[in-house]
Amino acid sequence: MDIQALKDQISTSPAFVLDETELVNTLSTLNGLRTQSGCKLLYSIKSLPFSRVLDIAKPYVDGFAVSSLFEAQLANETLAGQGSIHLTTPGIRADELDELAKLCTHISFNSLTQHQHFAARLNKFASIGLRVNPKLSFLSDERFNPCRQYSKLGVDIDSLWQSSTIDQVQGLHIHTVFSATDYTPLIKTLDKLTSYMSDKLARMNWLNLGGGYLFDQISDHRPFIAAIARLKSKYELEVYIEPGKAIVGHCGYLLATVIDSFVSDGKTIVILDTSVNHHPEVFEYQRQPALHEHQPHGRYPTVLAGCTCLAGDIFGEYRFDKPLQIGDRLVFKHIGAYSLVKANRFNGYNLPDIFRYNANAIKRLKHYTYQDYRQQWLAD
Ligand SMILES: *Cc1c(COP(=O)(O)O)cnc(C)c1O
Repeated sequence: MDIQALKDQISTSPAFVLDETELVNTLSTLNGLRTQSGCKLLYSIKSLPFSRVLDIAKPYVDGFAVSSLFEAQLANETLAGQGSIHLTTPGIRADELDELAKLCTHISFNSLTQHQHFAARLNKFASIGLRVNPKLSFLSDERFNPCRQYSKLGVDIDSLWQSSTIDQVQGLHIHTVFSATDYTPLIKTLDKLTSYMSDKLARMNWLNLGGGYLFDQISDHRPFIAAIARLKSKYELEVYIEPGKAIVGHCGYLLATVIDSFVSDGKTIVILDTSVNHHPEVFEYQRQPALHEHQPHGRYPTVLAGCTCLAGDIFGEYRFDKPLQIGDRLVFKHIGAYSLVKANRFNGYNLPDIFRYNANAIKRLKHYTYQDYRQQWLAD
């Protein structure tokens, strides 16, 4: 990504920029891993369901992973029958079953009760599975640990292997990590799963290993390739992975402009024309996003803050070689996943424009107006 070209050619701000070259590179790399390991690759569209992303991903993936009826509808429109649609969610509703049955190829129920209530109505249409909770925690932050105590995600492995339901499903689904950069959790989880249910797995058709691994940031893929090979040869399973962030995380940039600068209690505060509402995980998880202009040894420490009324609407403290001026433009990097999809117009600040970037051109694909804001809050 040529950040200077981005600043020169994009006149509106704030702007979300999708780096299509990077997206294609990431998809090609994952495609290589898919070929080497023999696993099937799904894109978890919840991380960024933007139409350009879905269209670009389509030729590289075996389908999409979805978590709701709307996502299933969107996946189905894009794939037009050419690929699998895997659904898992704690939120399946009785009134959506008929539509889900038409759209999804694989459905993993989150609980034994949901399986009991719904499986019979769906099993003529979709391959039925269960989400298993292997009860192995790899995360210290409980807010995104699916294997925390009293978890709502998946059937506890200890009750599952003894339940008769396990004999009625064609597949299992596991998803237990968040932004993992090595395969140790996967290997340990598979060890536990296979030791508990070796004979059950042999009867099944598929195993979905979920998302949560940043495949693009793992250098040694041999443990993964070996694990998939073992699952395929020992149990003759079709093995799926469904990354989200690993596909789009690095492809998204947020361009913002300095609109004010002042000193508060001795610190320089810079107000941007964006806010954490354009990337709510910054606030939710208190994580500071990477900034292109940040100089680790810069002489000017500066707090970058958003433009809304929330006191905690702050991106974090960064350093610069010279003081930022009103009108300066800054670019947050690697914010492709879980940013726009969670973005909102709190305080009446507009959503960012969306641009595409590739080697040939920078082009605006989306612009929201006051009418979009008004429409959202207008009674029908
Ligand atoms: C969120 C989610 C994913 C994608 O997770 P990433 O961390 O973006 O890779 C995949 N599967 C399930 C079940 C999920 O909940």
